[in-house]
This record gives sequence, structure tokens and C-alpha cells, in this order.
Amino acid sequence: MTTPLIIMGAAGRMGRTIAALAGEDAQYAIAALVDRGEALSGLQGGSALVTDSLQTALDQCPADAVIIDFTAPAVSMETARTAAASGHAAVIGTTGLTAEQKAELAELARRTPLFWSSNMSVGINVLYRVLPELTRALGDKYDIEMVELHHNRKKDSPSGTALSLGECLAEARGWQLPDVRCSARDGLIGARPKAQIGIQAIRGGDVVGVHTIYFMGPGERIEVTHQAHSRDTFAQGALRAAAWMQGRAAGRLYGMQDVF
Ligand code: NAD
Repeated sequence: MTTPLIIMGAAGRMGRTIAALAGEDAQYAIAALVDRGEALSGLQGGSALVTDSLQTALDQCPADAVIIDFTAPAVSMETARTAAASGHAAVIGTTGLTAEQKAELAELARRTPLFWSSNMSVGINVLYRVLPELTRALGDKYDIEMVELHHNRKKDSPSGTALSLGECLAEARGWQLPDVRCSARDGLIGARPKAQIGIQAIRGGDVVGVHTIYFMGPGERIEVTHQAHSRDTFAQGALRAAAWMQGRAAGRLYGMQDVF
């Protein structure tokens, strides 16, 4: 089954990446590219509608078209409201939503199929599933540590993904991450407490994002590494989510874990 797509923010970094990947994959048909008027020039839509109006796109595209929106919080909220009014499914990847905006998304999701995820990387979302199993299988003799690398312009440390991975690991041990996280070691620190998860950050160059989790036990070590090479990984996740959302019933706000 082909998934018709309406790409909001089509001229942006994520929008362009999603359109390029969808254009190479027969599973998807780009029905419309939507962005602000001033951003539209230079957008090559081919047979797709190119417009600055999401409503126009919805009016002219198939009823089962799925909106993919990587724009900005206020814009994505308007997308969700417009989708709810017409009953279209929407996949939203925009980050920085407030708690109130997320609550409104959850409310709108009762009326129309809505999906939101702050990390659409397929690999990271699979790790959320397999890391708890690995943690439990290895048992509590294995110390867990994590190192994340990002480019030299990244503002937050540790990364949001490292914290989410840490939460998932802590939960598998029956801990709360804030109680056991150690992100600085300096001086005479003594023996490593058992109830601890180290998360260290390295910054430099143009690294898109690398997360390595170490499970260190008696006589052996397992390392699990995820490396994001480009935005393609997020775009592929968004496309996979869109195909999963096509024809899905409304009910609650879906996320990447539902897709897997
Ligand atoms: P960007 O600035 O390159 O693109 C945003 C696009 O939205 C621009 O083309 C802009 O013109 C367009 N836009 C703004 N207002 C609009 C409106 N009213 N109508 C239509 N289009 C409008 O940003 P980006 O790097 O593509 O990132 C977009 C969002 O996606 C950010 O919040 C970013 O953090 C998030 N993001 C999420 C993931 C994930 O995995 N969930 C991955 C990467 C980026």
C-alpha cells in the first residue's frame, strides 16, 4: 500500500531530507509540500502540490494522506488542530513543546490519529526496547556506564537521548535515574558504588551523535553503540511512522514504541 504524504516544513533541513528519501521509495507518494511562502521558492515538487497552506493541501490530497511535520512548536500545534478538524493522521517530530502543548496533543489525539516523538531514529527507539532485556539478562554484577559524543555546538549535556537511555536502564534495575546518575568523576572518588549509572559527555567537531552503553562484568564487557551519521536516520523513522499511521484509528497519542 502506498502512503501519500503531506510534508509540512518541506523547505527545512528535516523536511528536505524526508522528501528526498520518500522520493526514492515507492512505498511513499509525496502529495504535497507545504512551507511558508518565502521558503517555497526553489522547492521542486514534481507532480506534488507546492503550497503555503496546509488546509489547501488537505482539501486537494487523498483522505488517507499522512501529514509529516518538522517545523516549530506553535506551527506543529496548529498542524495538529487542523488535522483534528479534518480527521487526517499526522506525524510530528518537532521538539521543544511545552507540557501544555503536549497535553493538548494528547487531547487532539482522541479525535484524530496523532503521533509525536522527539527522537525518530529507528535505532535509538529499538534500543529502548532491547536495553532493559539486556540489563536484566546480564544481572546486577554488571556495571552500566554510558559515553555520548556530540558536535561542538551542542548546548545541553548530557544529551536528551543519553538521559532517556539512562532512564530506561535505571528502570530495568528498579532505580530512578536522578538517584544513581554520575556525570562527573574527579579526584579521590573511591570505589564505584553498585547503584550507579555513569553518563559522560564528549564534545567536538561535527559529530551528529554517538551513544555507547557499557555493561562491564566479571571477565567480560559488552558495548552497545548507536551512531547517527546524518538526519537520514530521523527521516527514515518519520517515514516508517507515517506508513504505520496510515488508516490507524484515533485514541491516544502514538509514539515510536508503538511502531515497533
Ligand atoms: P528547519 O528550521 O530547518 O526547518 C523548519 C521548517 O519549517 C522551515 O522550512 C520553515 O520555513 C518551516 N516553517 C516554519 N513556519 C512554518 C509555517 N507556519 N508553515 C509551514 N512551514 C513552516 O528545522 P529542522 O532542522 O528541520 O527541525 C525542525 C524541528 O524538528 C525542530 O524542532 C527539531 O528539533 C526537530 N527535529 C526532530 C527530530 C526527531 O527525531 N524527532 C530530528 C531532527 C529535528
